[in-house]
Amino acid sequence: MSTTEQDIIVVGGGMAGSALAYGLAGKGRKVTVLDAPTDTNKASRANVGLIWCQSKFLHLPDYAKWGFISARLFPALTKELEEISEHTIPVNYLGGVIPVLSAEEYASRGEYIDKLREALGEYKGCMIDRTELERKLPGIGWGPEVCGAAWCEEDGVIDPLALLRAFRVALPRVGATYRQTLVYDVQPHAGGYRVTTRDGVFDAERLVLAAGLANRRFVQFAMPDLPVYPDKGQVLLVERMPYVMPIPVLGATQTFGGTTIIGFRHEHSGHHTRVVPSDVATEGQWAIRVWPELGKKRVIRAWAGLRVMPEDKMAIYSHLPGHPKVTLVNTHSAVTMAAAHARLLADFALGGDLPETAQGMTLKRFGYDC
Ligand SMILES: Cc1cc2nc3c(=O)[nH]c(=O)nc-3n(C[C@H](O)[C@H](O)[C@H](O)COP(=O)(O)OP(=O)(O)OC[C@H]3O[C@@H](n4cnc5c(N)ncnc54)[C@H](O)[C@@H]3O)c2cc1C
Repeated sequence: MSTTEQDIIVVGGGMAGSALAYGLAGKGRKVTVLDAPTDTNKASRANVGLIWCQSKFLHLPDYAKWGFISARLFPALTKELEEISEHTIPVNYLGGVIPVLSAEEYASRGEYIDKLREALGEYKGCMIDRTELERKLPGIGWGPEVCGAAWCEEDGVIDPLALLRAFRVALPRVGATYRQTLVYDVQPHAGGYRVTTRDGVFDAERLVLAAGLANRRFVQFAMPDLPVYPDKGQVLLVERMPYVMPIPVLGATQTFGGTTIIGFRHEHSGHHTRVVPSDVATEGQWAIRVWPELGKKRVIRAWAGLRVMPEDKMAIYSHLPGHPKVTLVNTHSAVTMAAAHARLLADFALGGDLPETAQGMTLKRFGYDC
């Protein structure tokens, strides 16, 4: 068994762990990321890649603001990652749309936007009519029922695997270590923390727990239960078509390679990751009403992934009760929040304060003393 002394160990190198580790390395700390594929923690490799700020969430205005803060940090981050990693990251910062299929839906989405604008003080979005939608996305033959869309100019879309790969390549180049190894256990040890892995033990003064749903197991030395549950998403992948969607459409998003990902389900079904065709058929039918061309194409793949969902749907950035040197990161939108995680969370993991907008995102809101 080997023992390695680190300033800080990040358990989990998915979207959240990689972004925060990148930020920590930028602070000159000796950081090691320990990550290995597991069956249930695949969200970072199963998502759509939306940088999505609109519709998240009227009842959580600070979380909504946090999304906008992250979106604004993205362009500089991806440019820097491309330079350091020497990998291209396909990304568009051109806004996003949610198509609507009836006058009622148009009105209710409009009301939501008005309320969001009031709650946030500022909101760069509005409802657009069909003519404006056709102007923004002229290559899509919209279905006859499409009467307009909710539009937000601060949304975007990124190739999520390219982003993850760029973090991976960049991490060692900014001084961090990435070790592919399965973590078995995390425990307090000699005033710091000991992480037991398939390849030996690693000791560190500080820890970040960013292992997705597996965080529920790793926090147990400090708290019996974590208010986070698996939220299943199922998607269909439609065969390649000419690239016509530089502005992403929520629910039927064309990838940079020309395929289209259909799906927006949120299901509460434990750790079940099977695709159930009758479930996803509803989204398939909706997508064909939005973009009838999809109905003429083949579905070439389908998959399911488990989002990491805090019980109140807001992110959790928190120290653990009684363990101020352990930082927990759990969010269901770790692609959208990646820039905020990379740029704004490192100080907190090193003992400083959370940024003002995120100060309500600790475990204190669930009654924990931390
Ligand atoms: C269908 C779907 C679509 C989505 N679309 C979007 C979107 O468009 N935009 C957006 O912002 N978000 C989206 N999400 C959510 C997003 O994918 C997640 O928020 C994000 O992936 C969570 O990242 P994470 O790093 O916290 O967790 P995970 O992705 O679960 O990563 C955890 C990491 O820890 C590792 N790990 C776990 N246990 C161990 C262990 N014992 N030892 C070693 N390593 C371990 C895992 O292998 C993994 O690499 C979507 C999710 C799904 C399922």
